[in-house]
Amino acid sequence: MDVRPFWLAGRPATGDAELTVTNSHDGRVVGVCSVPTAGQVEEAVAAAAAVQKQAAALPVHVRAEALVHVSRRLAERAEEIARLIMEENGKPIFWARGEVNRAISTFRFAAEETRRLGGEAVRLDTEAASAGRLAYVSRVPHGPVLAITPFNFPLNLVAHKVAPAIAVGAPIIVKPAPATPISSLVLGEILAETALPEGMFSVLPVPNDRAAALVDDPRLPIVSFTGSGPVGYAIMDQVPRKHVTLELGGNAAAVVLADADLDWAASRVALFSNYQAGQSCIAVQRVIVEESVREDFVAKLIPAVEALVTGDPADDRTQVGPLVSVEAAERVEQWVKEAVAAGARLLTGGTRDGATVAPTVLADVPHDAKVSCEEVFGPVMIIQTVSGVDEAFAAVNDSKYGLQAGIFTRSLDVAFRANRELEVGGVIIGDVPSYRADQMPYGGVKDSGVGREGVRSAMADFTYEKVMVLTGL
Ligand code: NAD
Repeated sequence: MDVRPFWLAGRPATGDAELTVTNSHDGRVVGVCSVPTAGQVEEAVAAAAAVQKQAAALPVHVRAEALVHVSRRLAERAEEIARLIMEENGKPIFWARGEVNRAISTFRFAAEETRRLGGEAVRLDTEAASAGRLAYVSRVPHGPVLAITPFNFPLNLVAHKVAPAIAVGAPIIVKPAPATPISSLVLGEILAETALPEGMFSVLPVPNDRAAALVDDPRLPIVSFTGSGPVGYAIMDQVPRKHVTLELGGNAAAVVLADADLDWAASRVALFSNYQAGQSCIAVQRVIVEESVREDFVAKLIPAVEALVTGDPADDRTQVGPLVSVEAAERVEQWVKEAVAAGARLLTGGTRDGATVAPTVLADVPHDAKVSCEEVFGPVMIIQTVSGVDEAFAAVNDSKYGLQAGIFTRSLDVAFRANRELEVGGVIIGDVPSYRADQMPYGGVKDSGVGREGVRSAMADFTYEKVMVLTGL
């Protein structure tokens, strides 16, 4: 098998070690990637620092052309890249194609947003003391961005950092998840076809213990991290004076109220508790149902869950594939067993075959069971019953996390109340919390993180406002 090079300052390079990538469905080796040496990591950082002034001054048309090129080439290579994502991550081809489509949009949105970058004039002659003065406010990149990304969306979550960085004129170094480096290396191939200056991007699949040096490096003032809470907060503690963005986990809730369309709610909850085998930070984990419709809803939900096609990710019909590893599946299975031992009722699922966990629904789960209060990151949902809106919203907020919540209701009053009262970064009315469009602001409160992604929000995050005052006008 050919060894894939990594990307060092825009050029392919090989190091002195290799990383083997396997498919969790059948254990096959699907790729071997070269791992950079400490010296090559230093070279990449030095190149990013050296190009930063040139990058910030890149004309907008050059940035936009590069972003459009990436979007177009992802579209041209969509099926090939979807298959690579499927192979390295184990996600079914159906969802892998969806991820590529989203990455195509993410780059296109960034091309549009970079063209909209402008300044603002603030009149200062509102005060006599400032007569004849005007302020010009523009956004300036902080400097090179360090992007640390998780395994579950190995292309689009990298796109969510690379595209806004190019849009604002910031060099970027990507450290992909060790389980899924291939998608980001292919993105590197496409970036290398653009006219971006040397040093503008590197993709460095370094092991976790070597990533600490990148986090510490003062030449990389922005750390944009997506992943688990313990790692994210450890990074923030490691570099408290850096600008760190954390996109972390959750145990997202879907609320089904008595006025909801129960067929729609059941089909959406069934699918989006189990999409990506539940390995999404906004997969439905807690289903909070109003008592009066609980029986009807569960009667629709269970057949919808049991009808999901589980199995080989390469099969077009498969909706639920394996988790990222057998160990991850064993952990999820263990958490389900612990909940059952503590008194939970298993309504369906609970079994495991290798890395694949059957879509699982639990009821009467003790509040302190891990499947309730921690992030499951597997195809498991728990059903909670509430008397009405007050209790439902209290249950949503009864979590250390706060990423997104979905409310199935037809009431505009309840929708606005949800928006006021729920402690989350996004409230999705009429659908699951798992809904995400790539141009909208996205991120959490509480232990789900700090800062926002979504192309425009990430562009704001990677820049600061700079004021120039003109005198004597
Ligand atoms: P993880 O925290 O294990 O790893 C994330 C990244 O951090 C990987 O690239 C990993 O190699 C790197 N890393 C690990 N230790 C490091 C260290 N000491 N220094 C620097 N980098 C280090 O997360 P994961 O298992 O890859 O992803 C799953 C998690 O990501 C879940 O908790 C999920 O909810 C979260 N997630 C959040 C979002 C969001 O936008 N909020 C999106 C997707 C995933």
